[in-house]
Amino acid sequence: MNKNKCVFLDRDGVLIKDVGYLKNPEDIIIMPNSVEALKILKAAGFLLIIVTNQAGIAKGFFNMDDLTAVNNRLLKIYEDNGIIIDDLYFCPHHENGTVEPYNIKCSCRKPGTGMVLKGAEKFNIDTDKSFMIGDKDSDTMLAKNSGLKSFYIRNFMYEHDENIAPDFYVNDLKEAAEIIMKTV
Ligand SMILES: [Mg+2]
Ligand SMILES: [Zn+2]
Repeated sequence: MNKNKCVFLDRDGVLIKDVGYLKNPEDIIIMPNSVEALKILKAAGFLLIIVTNQAGIAKGFFNMDDLTAVNNRLLKIYEDNGIIIDDLYFCPHHENGTVEPYNIKCSCRKPGTGMVLKGAEKFNIDTDKSFMIGDKDSDTMLAKNSGLKSFYIRNFMYEHDENIAPDFYVNDLKEAAEIIMKTV
C-alpha cells in the first residue's frame, strides 16, 4: 500500500494569530491566506494534521473544555471553507506546570516527536515526503527529530537561533504551500 504524505501544522502563529494562551474561541483570528494555502495542499493530496503545544493546560491558564472549544471552532471555520483538517493533536503538558496530571515531562511536547509519531502511524504517513510548518525553533527541531522537511515562518514574537536552520524560511503559510507545490 502506498504511504500518505502529510503537512503537519503548528496552530498558533501559523493557522491563527498567536495571542498567547488563547482561551476564548471568540478570540480566534485566522491568518490571512491560510484558507487558500490549505486548499492548495489538500488539492495536491496532502493530509493536514495540526500539532500544537498547549502548556496553558498544565499551567492552569485554561482547561480542557476551553481548549476543546477553541479547537472545535477552528476546525469548523475551515470546514465552512471546504477544508477538512484530518486530525489535531495537542500536548497539554509542562514539567513546570501546576495542574495535575499534566505537570509532567512528556514525549509529546514539541520538539518531542510523540504527536507526529501518533499521526504517522494512524495515517500510514511517509515522513520523507511530508512537511512541518511552524513559527518556533521547537517546530523546526520536531521536524528534524521526525524526518520531516521544515518551514519556519519568520516572526518577531519568538527568538530564533540561527543554528536551528529550517529547510525553508517563509513569510506565511501561503508561501510555504507554494514551495511545497514545486516539490511535488
Ligand atoms: Mg506557534
Ligand atoms: Zn505532552
